[in-house]
Amino acid sequence: YTFNSGNLQDLGAIGNGNFGTVYKMLHRETQKLIAVKRIRCNNIDQREQIRLLREHDTIVRSEKGPNIVKFYGAIFSEGDCWICMELMDVSMDLLYRRVYEVKHGRLNENVVGHITVCTVDALDYLKKELKIIHRDVKPSNILVDGHGAVKLCDFGICGKLEDSVVKTHDAGCQPYLAPERITSLDKYDVRSDVWSLGITLYELATGKFPYKQWNSLFDQIAAVANGDPPILRPDSGEFSYSRPLVKFINTCLTKDRKHRPKYDQLKTFDFYKQ
Ligand code: ADP
Ligand code: MG
Repeated sequence: YTFNSGNLQDLGAIGNGNFGTVYKMLHRETQKLIAVKRIRCNNIDQREQIRLLREHDTIVRSEKGPNIVKFYGAIFSEGDCWICMELMDVSMDLLYRRVYEVKHGRLNENVVGHITVCTVDALDYLKKELKIIHRDVKPSNILVDGHGAVKLCDFGICGKLEDSVVKTHDAGCQPYLAPERITSLDKYDVRSDVWSLGITLYELATGKFPYKQWNSLFDQIAAVANGDPPILRPDSGEFSYSRPLVKFINTCLTKDRKHRPKYDQLKTFDFYKQ
């Protein structure tokens, strides 16, 4: 099937990110509803666009992967890049805030466990099969549907495009960044994603972001790079947490990257296995 701006009918915005807006659209040929992320990229030159489009092949293969949002294609139109992907029902940031803040409930550990397994499997698959490191693991990039499917999005071409945009714009705030991402320019390693996963799971399990509100980048550097890592306690706040969950999250949040586990090791933890 072809995807171009002419055969897509806009049904309204779903949400905004640092780089653009995601819309629900109808693909007329198939009558299928899809999600389209429009990234503002008037600053990306044609050569760069072509290079990015070539890399599609890699991502298209990801259709076979487990727990990964299907990618349908990308179009450059009206100075934007439109990324066409599978439409899901809701992202985990919206869902957890609704559960904790509106319904005054919590996500039980089985739900957190299911999300953990799906996300770790997706990240491991990306790395092993597609040689992709996600680099933007956070609740809003974990999407779910009403059948309980949990899928990761915004890797590959999305990430690459956003990187190209970052070069020309302000990167915006990146609260899930691992300490070593703030202080050093080392090669990116999956373990920086493991840190972001730890922050994400902490948030899903407790309903709260583990750091106090930062008012500036300086605050973030002080807290993440110079401070102690967040620790989840078995009975912090209003809820209590099982030992396997506490151990899993706290180990992801090991400050020194050298001692932080990779996916194979995470898969041996009781919380993952249970
Ligand atoms: P961010 O991930 O930083 O929130 P994005 O631009 O990637 O910013 O996405 C904006 C919002 O659109 C997300 O928070 C999510 O709620 C929603 N969204 C993104 N992709 C999809 C999709 N494939 N299906 C359903 N909703 C999506
Ligand atoms: Mg996103």
